[in-house]
Amino acid sequence: MKPRDYSDLAVPGVRELTPYTPGKPISELEREYGVSESIKLASNENPLGASPLALEAMRGELDDIWLYPDANGFELKRRLAEKHGLDPACITLGNGSNDVLVFLAQAFLRPGLESVFSQYAFAVYPIATQMVGATARIAPAHGADHPMALGHDLKAMYERVGNDTRLVFVANPNNPTGTWLDGARLKDFVASLPPHVICVIDEAYVEYNEGARATDASTWLEAFPNLVVTRTFSKAYGLAGIRVGYALSNPGITDLLNRVRPAFNVNSLALAGAAAALDDEDFLHRTREMNREGMQWLTNAFTERGLKVIPSAANFLLTGFNRPGGELNEAFLRRGVIIRPVGNYGLDNYLRITIGTPEQNRRLVEALDEVLAE
Ligand SMILES: *Cc1c(COP(=O)(O)O)cnc(C)c1O
Repeated sequence: MKPRDYSDLAVPGVRELTPYTPGKPISELEREYGVSESIKLASNENPLGASPLALEAMRGELDDIWLYPDANGFELKRRLAEKHGLDPACITLGNGSNDVLVFLAQAFLRPGLESVFSQYAFAVYPIATQMVGATARIAPAHGADHPMALGHDLKAMYERVGNDTRLVFVANPNNPTGTWLDGARLKDFVASLPPHVICVIDEAYVEYNEGARATDASTWLEAFPNLVVTRTFSKAYGLAGIRVGYALSNPGITDLLNRVRPAFNVNSLALAGAAAALDDEDFLHRTREMNREGMQWLTNAFTERGLKVIPSAANFLLTGFNRPGGELNEAFLRRGVIIRPVGNYGLDNYLRITIGTPEQNRRLVEALDEVLAE
């Protein structure tokens, strides 16, 4: 039998799907460009690496690697329940929080139903929506002149909620913009949604959102049965490689999410590493401090060079140029610096740059000066 074109057999949502664009791995850059000692500031990973406590816990788990992991993640859920002051029945574990975003789409969307999210919101929302054949209603973001330029416009989002809406995705802070929402306004927004609409607040960068602007929507779960909050160990906890994230929701929603969750979606090293990382307050503290200082330093460096910087509450900066980001990206790659062009978000003249160590930030700015002079 001859190979045929299988795309007509694929379900419509999958046929039109464009896969997620990941940051380039260092090994790939070095292979393709013949450079060495590259730095990666492209995927919002923690430049401090992983917590030593997490590493130790994972090493301790190695001897038992031949056993299936605990399918219910009892110990990690117990620790998370303690951290959030919630019952373990409110927690869904994911292979990264990407996993739980997909569970939400699988459990609550289908062709004819809709999700609502903002323009420039995290790329997984459209992918999860399309994957299950549902329709995305995309609300225009705040304009470039708004104080929260490119950020979510909650009013515009609310206007797109209708009878067929089942999920509203809010990223606070958002990736790739770094923008955040005022806590009181966001709470009012959640309260305004009709009961047939589930509000998903993605808090992947919540640990970086500090001070007066900080919002922790997990404290609203008692008040809103239609609220889901997602978190991850990939960013501030420095554990992107082991893939652990989770959703917090009322036990009814949690039960549905766990019906679509593959039984062993979080592996045993990941369960152990994540649980141990929760104990490392010192690591989180150092992470925040380095991020705060690096953010300030890079913001100044970019501003001095006349670049537009979108204010960020996360661990990266979205910076505007007067040239296409794709072109700039090439010039950075040749210098062994991986950053993220965001043309796939419709942000052609922007680059997203993760805050690195002081040394990485200096290298980035050195490369930037060369690129700008080209
Ligand atoms: C990185 C990120 C995630 C998910 O990352 P996982 O590694 O899958 O946990 C979720 N939401 C946003 C906004 C992100 O930037």
